[in-house]
Amino acid sequence: MLPLVALVGRPNVGKSTLFNALTRTRDALVHDEPGVTRDRNYGTCRLDADNPFLIVDTGGIAGEEEGLAGATARQSRAAAAEADLILFVVDGREGPSALDDEILAWLRKLSRPTMLLINKADGVEANGMRADFAHYGFGEMLAVSAAHRQGLDDLVEEVLERL
Ligand code: GDP
Ligand code: MG
Repeated sequence: MLPLVALVGRPNVGKSTLFNALTRTRDALVHDEPGVTRDRNYGTCRLDADNPFLIVDTGGIAGEEEGLAGATARQSRAAAAEADLILFVVDGREGPSALDDEILAWLRKLSRPTMLLINKADGVEANGMRADFAHYGFGEMLAVSAAHRQGLDDLVEEVLERL
């Protein structure tokens, strides 16, 4: 069984775009509307051909417990709870939001190996984005652009070091 990495984060931060870039598929629905990914979607990252790992894309933890959004949130939580490593994906352009804070609080309780991943770092100065998220207390803050496939090799390297 390959190690499992879960992409967790609020809707619209680019989790599905990242999933597609890492798996080189278009299996995950990418959409401008938040909350498009309803179910857990598994794929294999082979960017380092010798060290493949599984990735699970999740629908985002929308903070609502009722209805479809609630079901999606439960899926995200289940995916994170079974993962060997969690990538907490945030939107570097928008900066931290109340929902990010909420997810972070939940991740801390879950107490599993977690990396902060700042996405949408295309055309924006990455250190400024890192400063915005510094109070989250992650030692290292990787910045990538899933849409432009920037920083993905470094990301895979960092992930493999932690698996
Ligand atoms: P999810 O809800 O977290 O799965 O987010 P999606 O992958 O569906 O992406 C939400 C929106 O962000 C889409 O319009 C994407 O094209 C856009 N997006 C995703 N990654 C990037 C990125 O690296 N840079 C920029 N500028 N936009 C991105
Ligand atoms: Mg999605």
